[in-house]
Amino acid sequence: MTKDQRGVTVWFTGLSGAGKTTIRMAVEQELRAQGYKIEVLDGDIVRENLTKGLGFSKADRDENIRRIGFVSHLLTRNGVIVLVSAISPYRDIRDEVRSRIGDFVEVYVNAPLNICEERDVKGLYKKARAGEIKQFTGIDDPYEAPLTPELECKTDQETLEESTARVISKLKELGYLPANSRVTA
Ligand code: ADP
Repeated sequence: MTKDQRGVTVWFTGLSGAGKTTIRMAVEQELRAQGYKIEVLDGDIVRENLTKGLGFSKADRDENIRRIGFVSHLLTRNGVIVLVSAISPYRDIRDEVRSRIGDFVEVYVNAPLNICEERDVKGLYKKARAGEIKQFTGIDDPYEAPLTPELECKTDQETLEESTARVISKLKELGYLPANSRVTA
């Protein structure tokens, strides 16, 4: 049995390696454990299906985000909590998606480039520095930080647990996690 759950898109934006996926997974785990209905759109996975074939020009990146935004909107209006983790480097398209969805919480996952590069989770910065990957965000492609995100997580200064707790309390504060609207079996 599903009770009325208020839908929202929680949009994690930031450089590669900033911690979007890590925080998103922790938030997902916590909310699932509490019984909320969740869906996830991860940039890397989406690029293998929904937006397969798109590249990294501004036009293609915008199209990638627009499609993720379209699906997020459908889910959000059906009461799902949608967790999106995608670099989404351009402010105008993030704002376009925000205004279309309405119930939109932007989380700026912020770590300085040198920290992301040190982490180099997927070895991509090394390749970008070597010129093996072109148009890599932060190296030879822009990242436009959100000006007024609902939340900023500085992952070089706070722990994963702190960031996760701050995302959850922001959702509570905004009224998206009313205690009586969880999915009950
Ligand atoms: P992104 O999805 O933004 O590309 P990932 O989540 O894949 O980034 O990688 C972030 C890396 O940073 C992980 O290896 C994670 O363990 C590490 N990390 C260190 N501190 C934090 C933190 N406070 N929050 C999130 N990730 C952190």
